[in-house]
Amino acid sequence: MKEKAAYKKNDRVTVTIEDMGMDGEGIGKADGYTLFIKDAVIGDLVEAKIMKAKKNYAYARLEKVLKPSPFRVKPLCDYARVCGGCQLQAVSYEEQLRFKERKIFRDLVHIGGFSEEEIEKAMEPVVGMETSFYYRNKAQYPIGTDKEGKPVAGFYAGRTHSIIANTDCKLGLTINGAILEAVLTFMEQNHITAYDETLHKGLMRHVLIRCGFATKEIMVCPVINGKDFPKAEEFIDCLLSLDLKEKGEAWKITSICISSNTKDTNVIMGNGFEVLYGKGYITDHIGDVAFRISPLSFYQVNPVQTKKLYEIALDYADLSGSETVWDLYCGIGTISLFLAKKAGKVYGVEIIPQAIENARENAIINRIENAEFFVGKAEEVLPEKYEREQIRADVIVVDPPRKGCDEKCLNTIVRMQPKRIVYVSCDPATLARDLKYLRENGYELRRVRGVDQFGQTVHVETVCLMSKLHVEHHI
Ligand code: SAH
Repeated sequence: MKEKAAYKKNDRVTVTIEDMGMDGEGIGKADGYTLFIKDAVIGDLVEAKIMKAKKNYAYARLEKVLKPSPFRVKPLCDYARVCGGCQLQAVSYEEQLRFKERKIFRDLVHIGGFSEEEIEKAMEPVVGMETSFYYRNKAQYPIGTDKEGKPVAGFYAGRTHSIIANTDCKLGLTINGAILEAVLTFMEQNHITAYDETLHKGLMRHVLIRCGFATKEIMVCPVINGKDFPKAEEFIDCLLSLDLKEKGEAWKITSICISSNTKDTNVIMGNGFEVLYGKGYITDHIGDVAFRISPLSFYQVNPVQTKKLYEIALDYADLSGSETVWDLYCGIGTISLFLAKKAGKVYGVEIIPQAIENARENAIINRIENAEFFVGKAEEVLPEKYEREQIRADVIVVDPPRKGCDEKCLNTIVRMQPKRIVYVSCDPATLARDLKYLRENGYELRRVRGVDQFGQTVHVETVCLMSKLHVEHHI
């Protein structure tokens, strides 16, 4: 057998990329080593330079693509590699979807302990996007100053705090670029300074743009290091004079807000906002439910795919009109209100008080009267409502953040014995961990489906249906 080569820094290797890791990096094997190579695409033959060598694996830098993979495509964005926001732009969209499906499959097997046959039986084809670019309804651009002292908007160069100018992120709408250019010109003409992170000086920190895809309403919200925005009237006039067209359709800025953030941290938004123009929110629709979105509200960033995601969740919930449904981690009540039309009663639980305020408001504007919302942690509110008030559940939907559900929450769900649990997840690893718990406690996996909400990135959303196993009481 060949002696294992002792790789060291700066060694060059030639390797075929056979797989892709969690962050989209290429993985290949050479001389018994596993090599992790960022920017290499599955199927490539590449030359790479070792950057960091361990006993059985090494990190290497892509030097040259010797034979490109059939899945390799030219990134649409010139900055794809330096930016780091899109990890998969050099991979064809079909292959991106296969990558995401594999990720779900493997986590369910390796972390969830399901057999491959079980997953194959339950898994439905991943739901891809029709257009895998220009899908985001929210853009947050940091503002800085270039070498000539001119204000620029762009993105932070991977893991640094220096801004590379680019107002044309391909994940968002092209009208974002026109708005940003107008803001930058306005800053220059009116001597409005850009924020400097290291000195903690200068006014303009970020510009947030939110677009209602269904209504064509736009909100622009500068985040400033100060209390007042100078020349607010002129700023409003400047923005309102823009002629904004996306694919021939006219969009309108209906809300301009300012958020003050004078803290020396990485958090983008301030705690509150002031309305300069309009109502302080824009409206958007998912299906036939309307939502008001303020600068600080959480709202799904890909409304086209969100509708598909919620439709699948609704299908998995299989409601007949009389059920009691819980929507845990409900945010501004999007899933709750979507379900309410088909349920007897929906209870939503969410930790952020403002989001619950939005949820209640959204119920009112949609004339939905069978939804009730509670502020608090799911793992605290659910046991309390179950134990003290004996509120039951026919179906429970959960849509937790990346860290998944607290075990106390899962334990209460199991004790409540809903017929069905619909798990919406943005992280297959914690999903798999939580499904394992549910399966060990009387539920079986019936359906799994990936829904791509974040084309060009490694993130994937998954919906699962766990059903209560029939319990035989009379043996
Ligand atoms: N279902 C919503 C939001 C999902 S994001 C939608 O589709 O839009 C996850 C939500 O869980 C966030 O709003 C976050 O604030 C909330 N959250 C985080 N930890 C929580 C906890 N322990 N209990 C309840 N909600 C929590």
